[in-house]
Amino acid sequence: MRGGSGFVGRELTRLLRDKGHEVTLISRQPGPGKITWGELESQGLPPCEGAVNLAGENLINPLRWWNESYKKDLFSSRVDTTKALSQAIAASSSPPHSWVLVSGVACYKPSLTAQYTEDSEWTPFDLLSRLVKEWEAAALLPENVAKTTKQVIIRPGAVLGRDGGAMKQMLLPFWLGLGGTLGSGRQPFPWIHVSDLAGIIVRALEPLADTPPSSSPQVFNGVAPALNTNYEFTKELGRVLRRPTILPVPGFVMNALLGSERAVILTQGQKVIPKRTLESGFQYNYPDLTSALKEIVN
Ligand code: NDP
Repeated sequence: MRGGSGFVGRELTRLLRDKGHEVTLISRQPGPGKITWGELESQGLPPCEGAVNLAGENLINPLRWWNESYKKDLFSSRVDTTKALSQAIAASSSPPHSWVLVSGVACYKPSLTAQYTEDSEWTPFDLLSRLVKEWEAAALLPENVAKTTKQVIIRPGAVLGRDGGAMKQMLLPFWLGLGGTLGSGRQPFPWIHVSDLAGIIVRALEPLADTPPSSSPQVFNGVAPALNTNYEFTKELGRVLRRPTILPVPGFVMNALLGSERAVILTQGQKVIPKRTLESGFQYNYPDLTSALKEIVN
């Protein structure tokens, strides 16, 4: 698993180990239970049943200024790692039965009204959607390998959990009573609890029972079925924390702080429906904001 040391990776590793699986992390840092990128390139993929890529430079890294070098790192940390892993799978003498890429919902154009499912057509329209295009294209396996290795792409919304992601940066200001809506607050806020995302990844890793893998990847939207706006999220987080949320942050401030190209992930949003995820029978532990935020805060 690449990116396994991160926020989602730690949750996934815990869940897989609880189910009795052995997990090897591919990391920039050597260590027990890990291999490095260099080792992956020189020695190939160790025998395994499934592979997942979760690597990626943090998009909201507060320590980095939004500039060309940061954008380059956002792309290379995702596209190059995905390419390295898909090439290692293709070159393996015994490829895994599943290959899962976790990308994002930035491929769907922000809108207050449009609803997107996994079947929605999309073409890149800005920097982040171009990133998703290149990222997902890098995951594609050659046709002969795709006959035996199931390819899955999971597109999560904001991943909510105690130990990382957006919540880690939001909890303190909200605790201090400094939380508020971002931009207009009317924008959709697609989200998922980290343990549900880990559950969706685990299901994606399971081998297909009867049908042979298809040459194109199966896509699953990794979002909770509840459709919420940023206003609803803000008010619910304030309610669960018992803190006021009366200080809205205007869109132009977000643009100035983060750079408009990435502020869009907070000031705009998409109504994303997890149609195929629900059809697959996946049972969410946290289908609504109240249950997800209570678990995180308590
Ligand atoms: P993290 O920020 O926790 O990072 C995951 C891992 O990526 C790190 O542990 C690190 O592994 C590796 N990494 C970080 N920077 C770089 C870099 N510059 N080059 C290569 N590898 C790097 O990510 P999350 O767990 O939050 O997210 C996992 C994936 O899901 C990411 O690709 C992210 O874009 C995507 N995603 C996340 C969302 C969220 O809300 N968290 C929302 C939508 C998508 P190591 O140090 O071991 O090399």
